[in-house]
Amino acid sequence: MPNKLTLSAIMVGLSMSLAACQQDQAASNQSPAKVEQAAPPSAQDARDFIESAQAEMEKLQFPASQAAWAYATYINQDTAAVSAYLSEKLSVRTAELAKEAAKFNHVEVDANTRRQLDLLLNSFVLAPPSAPEKSERLSQISSELDGMYGKGEYCRKDGECWDLGQMTAKMARSRDHELLLEIWQGWRQISVPMKPLYEEMVTLANEGAKELGFADTSELWRGKYDMPAKDFSAELDRTWEQVKPFYEALHCHVRAKLGDYYGTDVVPQDKPIPAHLLGNMWAQSWGNIYDLVKPEQKMQVPDVTAALKKHGYDEIKMVKQAESFFTSLGFEPLPETFWERSQFVKPQDRDVICHASAWDLDDKDDLRIKMCIQKTGEEFNVIHHELGHNFYQRAYKNQPLLYRGSANDGFHEAIGDTIALSITPKYLKQIGLINEIPDESNDLGMLLQVALDKIAFVPFGLMVDQWRWKVFSGEVTPENYNQAWWELREKYQGVMAPVARDANAFDPGAKYHVPGNTPYTRYFLAHILQFQFHKALCEIAGDQGPVHRCSIYGSKEAGKALNDMLEMGMSKPWQEALQTMTGSNQMDATAILDYFAPLKTWLDQQNQGRQCGW
Ligand SMILES: [Zn+2]
Repeated sequence: MPNKLTLSAIMVGLSMSLAACQQDQAASNQSPAKVEQAAPPSAQDARDFIESAQAEMEKLQFPASQAAWAYATYINQDTAAVSAYLSEKLSVRTAELAKEAAKFNHVEVDANTRRQLDLLLNSFVLAPPSAPEKSERLSQISSELDGMYGKGEYCRKDGECWDLGQMTAKMARSRDHELLLEIWQGWRQISVPMKPLYEEMVTLANEGAKELGFADTSELWRGKYDMPAKDFSAELDRTWEQVKPFYEALHCHVRAKLGDYYGTDVVPQDKPIPAHLLGNMWAQSWGNIYDLVKPEQKMQVPDVTAALKKHGYDEIKMVKQAESFFTSLGFEPLPETFWERSQFVKPQDRDVICHASAWDLDDKDDLRIKMCIQKTGEEFNVIHHELGHNFYQRAYKNQPLLYRGSANDGFHEAIGDTIALSITPKYLKQIGLINEIPDESNDLGMLLQVALDKIAFVPFGLMVDQWRWKVFSGEVTPENYNQAWWELREKYQGVMAPVARDANAFDPGAKYHVPGNTPYTRYFLAHILQFQFHKALCEIAGDQGPVHRCSIYGSKEAGKALNDMLEMGMSKPWQEALQTMTGSNQMDATAILDYFAPLKTWLDQQNQGRQCGW
């Protein structure tokens, strides 16, 4: 997950991330799926197929979700085996059904059936080729890559070894640039042997995508967004251009402050920022170096952790409070089973996965969260974020199975974060956690912290798949994998490798989502959309103040607008869902500029006389 506020793996039943798609014309014209010669399938066949496919997947999903829950909350050999068995069964069958859906590529069907067929067809991340030895090899490579990342560690000359968790903590806190460089380089050794495997995987997955009627895997991935693949790329670029001036101002200030601290020989003031100094292994979010770049004046910021303690909040009370945020908007309270079955506190007697996540086991009412709650302000935010997922899941539960998901894959995370953006001093005062709201002159610190976490992330969220799309389409060839990666990082982020990279380096592989084959554009979308959602809901709530101080707590009008969008699930193109809530069918990053307006003014003052850009 990209940053602190999005600490959650969303688990929608066990459904694969089935995102929306109206497939490209070009793609459906050349479907090589074998259609039986004698009687071409009819529209009725297509409807029957969709109905039985969903019924079958539904049956497989429930036990697979239960097993996954049992594993995550009680890790042992048996729960691991049962969960792996059932999820394999579900994904194998879903893959077969997705291939069957391709049979109907040329059949004229009603719009609703077409949408469901496309969703099924698009459910692959890596489409397996039909030759069994090839599909087996593809799944072998994916789990090998995953394993190489998971087992990755760096051993120092003296024999001491660090895993990623230990190195992440050191990257966050250490200010010793030589140590940071050692760790940065050390971690990137794990991905060197991934390269030949990755290359082979790309070839196999492209073969699978072609069999489904796509030009390549890049087109399959970009085809999930209710617009032609090439238009979607252009849409992302347009949105990024809106954020760019603000990002450049943030970059300029951060580089200058890093230059003050480390010296301009370490941080040259006319080049991209060396990637090891930003407090994060991938330089993707910069909140950890807040103390190096913060304003000089003292900021009065509510200490939520202390307030929770003072008011006797335990873990359950924190969750109850978050629930009341949603009921104040008009949502029904969570069911009794939520309180009985969720994991709120880390159990003492067994291993569990603590990574926060929100679950919907039966697509009806069996909602749960799984966390190991710490009694801190940060976790208070995470709880609100996770419940955002739960309320979304419940809102679309009456949709057909293929429509149970967020409007596109960015929406789910965006909703959780939107709710978290409403945890402002105003809200904290309303619920009695603090007595007074600090005046606006204190907002700068909070805004800078959020910008370092979220706006610094935006170009990274964009470039990861820019690289992958080019790799899958063949525009970037294996000899250029690493070079192309760094060209994109420099171009979008203004971040550079701190040392020349070896010819055999494969730095993309040192980021989980690449060997893990998790599409990344969803995080870019979520970071843009959450500010647009927040602004729209604040307007509906009639909040008069600056948007960064707004909370929609207590607004039934905002709650209704939110619910109207959530309950659509994936039944309509995401642009329609967006329009339902915001009144516009276009993504618009100008909400980010509104939110951070006071910070931008301050940054521009700081940057006077500095030479910005790279
Ligand atoms: Zn989340």
